[in-house]
Amino acid sequence: MFEQTGIPSIEMVMEKFPSLDRINKGPVAVVECYKKIPCNPCQTACKFDAINVGEDINNIPEVNTDNCTGCAICLSKCPGLAIMVVDGSKSNDKVLVKIPYEFLPLPEEGKMVKGLDREGNYLTDVKVLKVLNPKSFDRTPVITVEVDRKYMYDFRNIKVEV
Ligand code: SF4
Ligand code: SF4
Repeated sequence: MFEQTGIPSIEMVMEKFPSLDRINKGPVAVVECYKKIPCNPCQTACKFDAINVGEDINNIPEVNTDNCTGCAICLSKCPGLAIMVVDGSKSNDKVLVKIPYEFLPLPEEGKMVKGLDREGNYLTDVKVLKVLNPKSFDRTPVITVEVDRKYMYDFRNIKVEV
């Protein structure tokens, strides 16, 4: 299915997620880059040496989760919107998720919005905690939302209704 639609299977997604122990320690990047492409802004943006593409720019990036601080700089620089940051350290039943968001209007902090899965289907309502709009042409706005933990592996985007 991935080759036809670009939508990864749950097995592919799970391979990209750090361990639950790591997620529960604090924010960490999930880099959903599945195809070999000539690209590396994630690596060059990371000041913590936590993403490595290697010598061949076509390599799929690898994340050193011990080095990752969850700062989300790579997320805002990735042209493929392939990265999110997940933080399971705040609560037993919720996770905080930072996602790139390229649409307008941006969501409002404190509001509930629709949470979507990787196919764009409605999953659950999520609360917008923070909206970071860098106002820089080469950086994507970053939205932090609170998501029920049971949707952690399925949640991937939001829909803002106007
Ligand atoms: S979230 Fe920050 S520390 Fe982690 S890989 Fe991205 S840029 Fe590096
Ligand atoms: S910047 Fe994004 S698309 Fe490019 S290699 Fe890194 S994760 Fe993949």
